[in-house]
Amino acid sequence: MGRPQAYSLPDLPYGYKDLEPHMSEEQLRVHHDKHHATYVKNANAIFENLAKSRKEGTDLDTKSVLKSLAFNASGHILHSLFWPNMAAAGNGGGKPGGALGDLLEKEFGGFDRFKKEFTHAAVSAEGSGWAALTIDSLTRRPQIMQIEKHNVNVYPGFAVLMVLDVWEHAYYIDHKNMRDKFVEAFWNIANWDEVGKRLQKLL
Ligand code: MN
Repeated sequence: MGRPQAYSLPDLPYGYKDLEPHMSEEQLRVHHDKHHATYVKNANAIFENLAKSRKEGTDLDTKSVLKSLAFNASGHILHSLFWPNMAAAGNGGGKPGGALGDLLEKEFGGFDRFKKEFTHAAVSAEGSGWAALTIDSLTRRPQIMQIEKHNVNVYPGFAVLMVLDVWEHAYYIDHKNMRDKFVEAFWNIANWDEVGKRLQKLL
């Protein structure tokens, strides 16, 4: 059984209305069905062009193609991590327990300090970007990344536990320009069970 040779838009692990009132159906539909789908389509088109060019022996504008692929593939990968690290309203939020809770406690001195730092990374990301909770591949210590676009300021090899999309397309329908309100709402639907499972796979 081989792996799929192209990307596909994953279904959401909840209904479109299930994140309300923290994220509206309209906001989620546009974000998932339009924005995420575009990254999938663009990345797959580049893979097809690469294959065609190799088959036909034609030259590529390598620098441009690889830059676009890094952007679109990273966009797909981050969004695919984003949807499941949210949970239906009532099933998410609160604080993580178990190994994840212990890890955050040890590194940040407590969940509240982690939340403050992650919030600041999300709110202060310049232009379009993400905040990410990651694990350092060398030390296994947690590290907050502030990603610009989908692929700038990313540390090679770090595993991603949780991401928060702070592109305007992620919140403009619900919150207009008030990114801080969106980040505040996110904490109510953070899926700590999922984030904890991602950590368990690394331990
Ligand atoms: Mn997005």
